[in-house]
Amino acid sequence: MKALRYHGARDVRVETVPDPQLSEPRDMIVKVTACAICGSDLHLYEGLIPTLQKGDVLGHEFMGEVVEVGREVRDVKPGDRVVVPFNISCGDCYFCKRQLWSLCDRSNPNAALATKQFGAAPAGLFGYSHMFGGYPGGQAEYVRVPFADVNHFKIESDLGDEQVLFIGDIFATGFMAVDVCGVQPGDLVAVWGAGPVGLFAMKSAKMLGAERVVAIDRFPERLELARAQCGAVPIDYEKSDVIEVLKEMTSGRGPDICVDAVGMEAHGHGLEFWYDRVKQAVGLQPDRPTALRQAVMACRKGGTVSVPGVYGGPIDHFPFGAAFNKGLTLKMGQTHTHRYAPALLQRIAAREIDPSFIVTHRLHLEEAPKGYDIFQHKKEACIKVVLRP
Ligand code: NAD
Ligand code: ZN
Repeated sequence: MKALRYHGARDVRVETVPDPQLSEPRDMIVKVTACAICGSDLHLYEGLIPTLQKGDVLGHEFMGEVVEVGREVRDVKPGDRVVVPFNISCGDCYFCKRQLWSLCDRSNPNAALATKQFGAAPAGLFGYSHMFGGYPGGQAEYVRVPFADVNHFKIESDLGDEQVLFIGDIFATGFMAVDVCGVQPGDLVAVWGAGPVGLFAMKSAKMLGAERVVAIDRFPERLELARAQCGAVPIDYEKSDVIEVLKEMTSGRGPDICVDAVGMEAHGHGLEFWYDRVKQAVGLQPDRPTALRQAVMACRKGGTVSVPGVYGGPIDHFPFGAAFNKGLTLKMGQTHTHRYAPALLQRIAAREIDPSFIVTHRLHLEEAPKGYDIFQHKKEACIKVVLRP
């Protein structure tokens, strides 16, 4: 089959690899009909995630048709149309039973690698390095999905692929980022990053009852989409003092909820940014936490900072004293996709939201390397790339 493989920083290629096989009785094989490039894939593309190896197949946002199931699979059968969550969960460990799906204790066969880095291992992820299980990903014609009964959301309606694909990752991620903050009527939710995750966080904030939503970014097309589609007030961080503008909007208090939907590759200026940039370039720290620091500084006393943006290592110059003395609540983590996707699917079916509004580029799988290049560098006003094998 054809699949997108990593060959080194900013070098991905579509190549022929062996078809995946059922290797456990609870596996299924999915024939991919649509997959996407996620902002998290960009961190792999930049070579910032350790334990990714040359030849690894990437991709964790995908859906398709079930073509084969193992002998212990009960809830899906060949012919079913499914969206697959990006995190792999077993469904019956301590963490899965508590709905902490992205922290599954049984789906990461390389737990020791992750434990060395983080103290304990998160769940396995499709196409996301060996530290996260070394599973071949979904930017491919076929994928092996472990624990098939647990890791699928069946699509029985005639909704299009682009309408449902994102419940397996970025829509669930944007939604959880705000849901865990417990929005109150009258709240102002400020979102750093108007990429796909940020846009879904903004939409979700409105769905969950926030009064005002603010979008912070520097790309005009992204800020415009945030304004037009999510009702957000746009702030261009290159042109305004973000913290000052947020204060003016909140009688000097700051936003009730601050969402960092940027993560480890934040862009910025000034001494602190270049300090992070240089440390990242020489491999001393994986993260550039510009947006995170600003979110903590901007948040009102007693407010919540929620971090869907991905981080990988120890962070320098983190304003922990500000977080402590303002009594902030910090929320973060890989999304518990299984907890949110079914309800999001219902909202889509009820026409409350059509997630396809973010898609700007539709490419053939063969063109995936071009997709990575334009999405990483935000060329051609790219917001989201969907690939079809
Ligand atoms: P993206 O690259 O399209 O969006 C990031 C946006 O942040 C860009 O529009 C960029 O201009 C903006 N930005 C950069 N620096 C900024 C700054 N200093 N202030 C404000 N905005 C700034 O990516 P995406 O797909 O939207 O993903 C965003 C993040 O969410 C990534 O880190 C990704 O890895 C993460 N993510 C996490 C999960 C999870 O489970 N927690 C799931 C999916 C994605
Ligand atoms: Zn993702």
